[in-house]
Amino acid sequence: MAKSFMPAIKTEEELRDLQLKGLRWTVNHVYQGSDFYRKSLDEAGVKPDDIRSLDDIKRLPFTAAKDLQEGYPFPLRAVPFKDIVRIHASSGTTGKRKVLCYTQKDIDDWGDFFARCYEMASLTKEDRVQIAVGYGVWTAGVGFQLGCERFGAMAIPAGPGNIDMQCMFLVDFQSTVLCCTASMGLLMAEEVEKRNIRDKINLKKMIFGSERSSDSMRKQIDDLLDIEHLFDIPGMTELYGPGTGLDCVHHTGIHYWADYYILEILDPDTLKPVPEGEIGEMVVTTLKKEAAPLIRYRTRDLTRLIPGQCPCGSILPRHDRLLGRSDDMIIFRAVNIYPGQIDHVLSGIEGIGSEYQIILDRKADGKDYMAVKVERDQGIDSSQDEELSKKIGEEIKKQILVSGNIEIVDYGSLPRSERKTKRVFDNRDD
Ligand code: ZN
Repeated sequence: MAKSFMPAIKTEEELRDLQLKGLRWTVNHVYQGSDFYRKSLDEAGVKPDDIRSLDDIKRLPFTAAKDLQEGYPFPLRAVPFKDIVRIHASSGTTGKRKVLCYTQKDIDDWGDFFARCYEMASLTKEDRVQIAVGYGVWTAGVGFQLGCERFGAMAIPAGPGNIDMQCMFLVDFQSTVLCCTASMGLLMAEEVEKRNIRDKINLKKMIFGSERSSDSMRKQIDDLLDIEHLFDIPGMTELYGPGTGLDCVHHTGIHYWADYYILEILDPDTLKPVPEGEIGEMVVTTLKKEAAPLIRYRTRDLTRLIPGQCPCGSILPRHDRLLGRSDDMIIFRAVNIYPGQIDHVLSGIEGIGSEYQIILDRKADGKDYMAVKVERDQGIDSSQDEELSKKIGEEIKKQILVSGNIEIVDYGSLPRSERKTKRVFDNRDD
């Protein structure tokens, strides 16, 4: 039988023991090896020996993106330079790039858990994996490749873009798996259709990284390509890179590697845990990372834990897909709302497009009001507006527990942008 990359542990109790061991090791390791963490722990009045249970994680100070920026070029470093074998950096759209150091063991661990992603997606060594993500100083291409070779499938390091070449590779090499961003996946699906090569390719699975894939996008790709599975792979440079979890073939949420890191879901305002199943910010603490460990690192990404057990029987817990950034959170009549939630509600309703706007106002009565503008879908006429807006209002009320005034507008009337479209207009002055 092929080597398995799944954790050897079998029970939740064993997982908790392993987490506590890793947490204690990490706190001790950074206290000895990192000036930054030693100072931060001293300021919080915590010594390594104070960590006696998993609950003691609450005593540890938070780490944030600004700590990485302030520590540039080698932030959070907790080992001597002689032990560092590689660095990676984020693409750095705002401010300085985030640079992270890796020891050989960090690279080996990353390779092992990325191989687990391919195993979770039910690949075999016979699979041919076309890796159409960026190669360079960032973690994407290198990570997908590392995991693929560790797993033992055939890696085709295609890199991003170059649609002609991608299509040729799909046909000539008979790639069975395509790894790319969801937008590129959609582009590829459309090209395969346009070139009429569906019956010449052997594509069975797609793995989407680095951006959120909306439900409507996935449906469109699935309709065009009719493939077995679409997977979402989460990851960030701070936490090794991509490959920190994957949904299994049941697609009930993303199993995450709780034997490599602890995931807390916290209210971004109070920094206290949200009730299980509710949306909050992902805060991660690594258990084995040597060169640049993370202690309660605030990712700013929002998701929720998925309670209960997956039909696949894995003890690895699950989180939902990423639902937005905590900086985008709106507090409306004491309810925390994330634009991703509205997105999610709208994607489940037929007859509307994917564009919307949320407008918040405070009126003379001192109360807050929310208006949601939604585009009618192409080819749908305005006679159904009333029915549509009623349906949207009901779904928002049901799923997010707030009421709003819904307005249906013409298809194409809301502004679009290539990068990040502004969707929330908060006119309330505090
Ligand atoms: Zn599962």
